[in-house]
Amino acid sequence: MEQVDVVVVGGRLAGCAVAAPLARAGRKVVVLDKMSFPSDQLSTHLLMPAGTSELSKLGALPRILALNPSKVRWTQVEAEGIACLERLRPADDGTDFGVCIPRDQQDVCLVEAARDQGADIRERSTFTSLVWRAGRVAGVRYTDAAGEEHELRGTLVVGADGRRSSVAAQVGAWHPYRLSRNGRGLVFRYVDDPLTGTRAAETYNQWRDGDSFAFAFPSAPEGKLLILIMGGRDEVSAARKDPEGYWQRKLGEHPSLARRIAGADPGTYTKIRSTGETPAFFRASSGPGWALAGDAGHFKDPVTGQGMRDAMWMGRTLAEHLLPVLDDPPAVDRATRTWEAGRDRHCLPAYHFANLDTRVERQSPALCELVRDAGRTTDADLTDLFGRARTLQEIAPLPRLARAAVAALVRGERPRTETVTRAVHEVRTELEIRRERYADRFRATRLVTGSDHPDAEWPAPPSPPKPRVLAPSTAAAPPQSAPILEEIPA
Ligand SMILES: Cc1cc2nc3c(=O)[nH]c(=O)nc-3n(C[C@H](O)[C@H](O)[C@H](O)COP(=O)(O)OP(=O)(O)OC[C@H]3O[C@@H](n4cnc5c(N)ncnc54)[C@H](O)[C@@H]3O)c2cc1C
Repeated sequence: MEQVDVVVVGGRLAGCAVAAPLARAGRKVVVLDKMSFPSDQLSTHLLMPAGTSELSKLGALPRILALNPSKVRWTQVEAEGIACLERLRPADDGTDFGVCIPRDQQDVCLVEAARDQGADIRERSTFTSLVWRAGRVAGVRYTDAAGEEHELRGTLVVGADGRRSSVAAQVGAWHPYRLSRNGRGLVFRYVDDPLTGTRAAETYNQWRDGDSFAFAFPSAPEGKLLILIMGGRDEVSAARKDPEGYWQRKLGEHPSLARRIAGADPGTYTKIRSTGETPAFFRASSGPGWALAGDAGHFKDPVTGQGMRDAMWMGRTLAEHLLPVLDDPPAVDRATRTWEAGRDRHCLPAYHFANLDTRVERQSPALCELVRDAGRTTDADLTDLFGRARTLQEIAPLPRLARAAVAALVRGERPRTETVTRAVHEVRTELEIRRERYADRFRATRLVTGSDHPDAEWPAPPSPPKPRVLAPSTAAAPPQSAPILEEIPA
């Protein structure tokens, strides 16, 4: 049995982000991950300047830059052919570019950076069960690569183990208190960028045509382009059945995407990958002796591309809450609860925005007019939304939203009834979102009409891994079934 300050389960964005500042401050922190790095993850991976800034705060940016990534400095949004090009607003520390690094290359940089700062990161180490003491989580048991079981005690156990968090399951927080179905699926591949060396290769593109979205992210190393298509989630099975047929069909639906990659060598195209399972959720994320950071506690539809930045933000801010109180367990529990409330306040606007964007429907006429309005200059405006510099509510206060709706009516590009109905619906949803933010309720379960899609299915929790029985010569055989929650008398 080993005693440390903090045990973190999961060693990617949230896990390394919570571990690095604690270790830097001289705290003993152990991070367990069942994988060995480099290790891939099914995810696209765009970070806007606020995300790059988190990499910098984590101490991982020098390693990331050594990968020679494209630096994303511009965003172009095109909705139904109306375009706006904006220079990205720098983050609070002056970081003025985004990056898009394949996960196997990115996550190992985080692991190495956290390790350099003193975090003890144990790869191929699988969390199996919690240790409880007097009603408080007091540590974990895990098995190492050889199948040997160990016990670690700590003042706090952080579950940074992703959406299918075993820590969440074992503290009784598996079922989200708020869950919203995703409408879109993700289909993506890498291509060699035919426009390397031009401003286009520094530009993150979004195309919103009909009810389908397409994106181009300049990736790493420089010269690679990640293309993501987000049609309806039911399209994922079509993409799996006939990947190239699907690809060609979507190029037809997104002519600006087809133009962007015209001349790319199809011989450089990678295999198409896809997923349709990305419901958004909030889980209870703090309790006696435990906290959930990153996707383990909150996930939003990847349509906004905010998950990695938020996972690092959650890890870093959790560490900042812990550092002043880490020797006082009741104060730690108060701090994690305060942190959870702040996380929800911070993430709620992006959650709602992602819910709005995951609806598979034609672009709102008012949104198209907002794009037109923002497109009058190249100053950061609408794209603050994707950069997390401002919320939708700050970018489009009700008078601006109303002006956009009126402009759509006057332009008359769609039947008047469609424009009016959509505008009324959007304003009503916006009012409800603003009311919810104003009410600022902890673990709010109130559903916002037009945003939350509550009929999502939720999977059963992961079953605890069975302890591996080792040959008698190597170690004594562990018990056949380890209890999930064990109460150890004080
Ligand atoms: C298809 C898709 C596309 C996305 N695109 C983007 C995007 O473009 N931009 C963006 O910012 N975000 C994107 N996201 C979101 C992003 O991937 C996540 O928000 C991010 O990975 C969360 O990081 P995390 O550290 O919380 O968890 P994870 O990255 O899930 O890491 C969890 C870690 O925990 C480990 N673990 C799990 N169980 C155990 C156990 N029992 N014992 C030990 N270790 C364990 C795992 O091995 C893993 O390494 C996307 C997500 C998806 C699904």
